[in-house]
Amino acid sequence: MKLLIFGPPGSGKGTYANLMRKKLNVIPLSTGDIFREAVKNKTELGEKVAEFLRKGELVPDDLVIEVVKSELEKIGDSSFILDGYPRTVRQAEALEDMTAIDAIIQLIVPNKIIIERLSNRRICPKCGAIYNLKTLKPKCDEKCDRCGTHLIQREDDKPEVIQNRLERYREQTRPILKYFKGKVPIIKVASRKVDQDPKVVVDRIIQKLRDLGLIG
Ligand code: AMP
Repeated sequence: MKLLIFGPPGSGKGTYANLMRKKLNVIPLSTGDIFREAVKNKTELGEKVAEFLRKGELVPDDLVIEVVKSELEKIGDSSFILDGYPRTVRQAEALEDMTAIDAIIQLIVPNKIIIERLSNRRICPKCGAIYNLKTLKPKCDEKCDRCGTHLIQREDDKPEVIQNRLERYREQTRPILKYFKGKVPIIKVASRKVDQDPKVVVDRIIQKLRDLGLIG
């Protein structure tokens, strides 16, 4: 199964993709995680993308496409869920040349909730686990449940950068939906509450994938 999870920053793409990993045995592939890891490890890729991430700008298409191509080659025939790619129509065209997607999961979340979620999001700098100080709290202080590392706020979850990322989404990423309409089934899942339980959303996604006949 080849899936794509689509939505504005803070709509829960990473959280849901990670929950789906366990339930559906799909490999989550997040370009944002790949770039953050590269920045952290100061690799050649990290140096190229650091400034874009810091400002909430999109990394140039050619670079992103190259990274995703190589990741998909590594994944081979396994099921996967793309999170954060494609983000431009050009990236969507490139994806079509790489593989055929079975379904797009479109997350619909009001702007007010997105901003609230992004400002309360914390991540583990070591293992990448995602938390929310209001809705998905770590068990102990601000420490990761999995590895105990102190959680941090993403540099690009600060208010001045959030606004830029939302604009990039509206101008460059949203048009992708039109591009895929009629070509790939689009599953719409709305989450209109700040304290929405992610497991409930994932169950709804799974039910819709079942309705499409993609899972038994
Ligand atoms: P995310 O974790 O998906 O919110 O991505 C964090 C940041 O990584 C974005 O704000 C961009 O700077 C960069 N990024 C991630 N995926 C892409 C992509 N497909 N195209 C361009 N930039 C990306």
